[in-house]
Amino acid sequence: MPNKKIMVTRSSMPKFDEYVEMIRPLWDTHWLTNFGSYYKRLEKELKQYLSVPQISLMVNGHMALELAIQAMGFPEGGEVITTPFTFISTTHAIIRNKLVPVFCDIKLSDCTIDENKIEDLITEKTVAVLPVHVYGNICNVRKIQEIADKYNIKVIYDAAHAFAETLDGIGVGNFGDISVFSFHATKIYNTIEGGAVVFKEESFYKKLHDLKNFGIRSESIVAEIGANAKLNEFSAAMGLCNLKSIEKNISARKRLVEYYIQRLEMIKEIKIYRFNKDNIKYSFGYFPILFCSEVNGADIRDKVYEKLKEHNIYSRKYFYPITADAACFKNKYKKTSLENARYAGDRVLALPLYPELEHEVIDEIISVITECVYGV
Ligand SMILES: *Cc1c(COP(=O)(O)O)cnc(C)c1O
Repeated sequence: MPNKKIMVTRSSMPKFDEYVEMIRPLWDTHWLTNFGSYYKRLEKELKQYLSVPQISLMVNGHMALELAIQAMGFPEGGEVITTPFTFISTTHAIIRNKLVPVFCDIKLSDCTIDENKIEDLITEKTVAVLPVHVYGNICNVRKIQEIADKYNIKVIYDAAHAFAETLDGIGVGNFGDISVFSFHATKIYNTIEGGAVVFKEESFYKKLHDLKNFGIRSESIVAEIGANAKLNEFSAAMGLCNLKSIEKNISARKRLVEYYIQRLEMIKEIKIYRFNKDNIKYSFGYFPILFCSEVNGADIRDKVYEKLKEHNIYSRKYFYPITADAACFKNKYKKTSLENARYAGDRVLALPLYPELEHEVIDEIISVITECVYGV
């Protein structure tokens, strides 16, 4: 049994000396935030790395989502069709913008929004679709765009799980009207806390720039009801350092996922998400499995979660409960059939995954799973 805690993830950090060298100049300039030189450099480097036309850095992924939605200028009470199988941030960002979430069920094949169920939920109040590339599984972006074009509604992607990914060689941030990334410490790429909005529409840059700085347009003009969502220089410096190792980080994750799959393959009672579509370059941010034993999959999932804890290994019920069932708005919004989302929420477990994870820990996880599934 490992004597140190194994968490579901472990934040990537550069070498201590590398980071210290990077932040040393800040003691000369005393310029710590408000669009500093590292902020500008990181915007430039990320724009290139993600192959997107425009990018606006933010203090975190959640504010990126909130301000991206605000920047679209939807009328109050507008409906946003979204997935309940996501981190609570996605749903909060809609509601905090005085919009109404309409929950659409997911596909069990990859846990993304079921594009075939979107059209039925569209009403004259619908203003946008807000899907999530769950676990780095890229949504059916082409079908979703077709629907959006047909009904003249916007598409905003929560791409918090899909940093660095491409579909048919195209950076994932290029789909829809806007995509949002999170650079939180728990994500594959971090700026400690941080995030970004990416988009095509050039005028959005200025708009988001103002919104993240209290809506201040010039010294004497406050043009919008903005927030404070600027990325500071220490975070930007962290981001510049971490960007150098991102590809190595992803390759290490890929190898670990392959090892997990090889060890789990024979357990029929488990659905494994394989991340093996030919036209997608994955970033392997998560390794979720689904306990799908007919009668008691949910119980087995909970048992594995608890048992792993006894081994000092911390997995995550990610996502449980689904956001539509969150205590703060349960039963408050339009009732839709969310059968698959609830099924996945009750049975999913994200297992530890980060570049330094040892094979011995994976072996230990597998033996706990085997024990719980077969009761041996
Ligand atoms: C992490 C995450 C967010 C929020 O990003 P923060 O940087 O933590 O604010 C939003 N949506 C999803 C799907 C996430 O995983």
